[in-house]
Amino acid sequence: MQDNKQCNGCEQALNLLLKKAKDDKVETVWGRALAMQPQCGFGEMGVCCTNCSMGPCRIVKISPDGPKKGVCGATEDTMAARNLARSIAAGSAAHSDHGRDIAEALLNFVKQKRPIKDKEKLKLLAEEWGIKSCDDDTENLVAKVAKTALDEFGKPFGHLRFVERAPKKRKDIWESMNVVPRAIDREIVEVLHSTHMGCDADYRNIMNAAVRAALSDGWGGSMIGTELSDILFGTPAPHEVEANLGVLKEDSVNIVIHGHEPTLSEAMVIAVNDPEMIEMAKKQGAESINLVGMCCTGNEISMRHGIPMAGNFFQQELAIVTGAVEAMVVDVQCIMPSLSQLAKCYHTKLITTSCKAKIPGAIHIEFDEIKSIECAKKIVQEAVINFKNRTGNLLIPKEKSKGKVGYSVEAIIKTLDGVTNTFAHPSGTVKPLVDAIKSGVVRGAAAIVGCNNHRVPYDKCHVELARELIKNDVLVVTTGCGAHACIKAGLMSDDAVKLAGKGLATACGLLKIPPVLHMGSCVDISRILHLVSMVANYMDVDIKDLPIAAAAPEWMSEKALSIGTYAVASGIYVVLGVSPQVTGSENLTKYLTSDMEDIYGGRFDIEPDALKAAGKIINHIENKRKALQI
Ligand code: SF4
Ligand code: SF4
Repeated sequence: MQDNKQCNGCEQALNLLLKKAKDDKVETVWGRALAMQPQCGFGEMGVCCTNCSMGPCRIVKISPDGPKKGVCGATEDTMAARNLARSIAAGSAAHSDHGRDIAEALLNFVKQKRPIKDKEKLKLLAEEWGIKSCDDDTENLVAKVAKTALDEFGKPFGHLRFVERAPKKRKDIWESMNVVPRAIDREIVEVLHSTHMGCDADYRNIMNAAVRAALSDGWGGSMIGTELSDILFGTPAPHEVEANLGVLKEDSVNIVIHGHEPTLSEAMVIAVNDPEMIEMAKKQGAESINLVGMCCTGNEISMRHGIPMAGNFFQQELAIVTGAVEAMVVDVQCIMPSLSQLAKCYHTKLITTSCKAKIPGAIHIEFDEIKSIECAKKIVQEAVINFKNRTGNLLIPKEKSKGKVGYSVEAIIKTLDGVTNTFAHPSGTVKPLVDAIKSGVVRGAAAIVGCNNHRVPYDKCHVELARELIKNDVLVVTTGCGAHACIKAGLMSDDAVKLAGKGLATACGLLKIPPVLHMGSCVDISRILHLVSMVANYMDVDIKDLPIAAAAPEWMSEKALSIGTYAVASGIYVVLGVSPQVTGSENLTKYLTSDMEDIYGGRFDIEPDALKAAGKIINHIENKRKALQI
């Protein structure tokens, strides 16, 4: 494991809690990662295969005498590509199933006659999809949009509707490669089929299916998840929130909500504000109920409700170690199974809520969308009655920071319009953004996304990269656990403008925006795709021509692989801080880091050093500017 040097007070808070964990004799991800060393070289290189019971087979690279083929004859290229493709399909499945759940929730809202939050966005989406309805019949329109979205998962013919948002030149490339995503489920199933034992053995063809599955995530499942969440729960707008574990309160019932889907967290926000629940908490001796968010759920509820962001992936265990958490409530994805054992060492109740993600030892309260508030209240009650079980073994770090969150595409355009619209052009366009980039005041934009990973210094990679980019007048947008790292480091506050280069600082000062913009959860990377498509369409170029890039400095999940792949296939240069498990195949490694650029105009690069990664991104952006002659 690497050293943990990172941002401001973050390091201090981290060290305090790691020491407490040691004193309390509980294990965390840091200790388990150390115990895991050395990690399996075959797995790291992607050259082991368990696709049939003749295996496991592995390719021995270090000795000339070792096996160079599996029992069936599969080569290193086939094995590595199949493994990668399956991971991409799993990532796409996770995001897309989330999207499907949101579409079902939308339909349930109609059945329950519950109001949606953003009627304007509903109308715009219905118009985009060619769905007609009477103006005054919102219910009917909601139902039609929800059903149309659900059809995107299994329709037998045609391609995904959101593909139409991409520039024509991009769609032409996808068509020429036969990777235009059709139904979402179909693309995921096709990867599993083609990578079954004795099926596709051509690494390039396997990657085509993987690219199509990834595109069905970014331009399908994730985009559906984001758009429909906004319709249901409101399109985010900028506001200030607090972040880091210092948001836990000693005198209150602390509930950490962790996972991904906003349906649960939205109901929790209502439940914790219920006077009956607050009264119950007071009777237990607490001042109030303090709901805080972790990982992507943290992003979702902070950007819609200003709920504090407790922390990212590597802070989920540390939240429990504080001894101040009455309940950690989880739904799906990025939840460490270790939490249930850890919770038992303190008074915390770990509450699982999804039939897709149960953990032995946890309390399970199934979240029922139809009875969402009832379920959420039941969960809150469990937390409240647990307040009295707190022991004196409490340590809440003081560290917390403030920053602005909630920069949806709509919010970014509105912010730009508010300051720069001279009425010489219609409002609601990306023209001001394009002007700022064309003039060179802002050199370009980079997305910093993704997780935490013990292979690289925690949070430091996100933060160092963001600092270096804004210093060089590159606007940063961020999502997921990268967003948590940036807000903790103060990079989303107005004060962070001081860290930006002269051009970016001027633009941010004028617009009153921080130089690092929070765009939401991992699913919300679809917002970034939408924004870059609007910019490319406005400039009448392809996405690959824009002075933009992306980075996932600390990525770890299969979802991140799917995101990286759809970004590259959309024409974006993507720098990874951790190598995917493919290096056992030189051909596949070359395909990802070089050949894909010839095909799609985007490619992967691997650079664990944040400053070097920044240098590569800046170089890429300047080259794109030159090519555009701006
Ligand atoms: S599919 Fe081939 S390489 Fe994989 S486990 Fe079976 S025999 Fe081995
Ligand atoms: S950024 Fe990674 S770790 Fe964080 S919530 Fe998303 S997938 Fe999970």
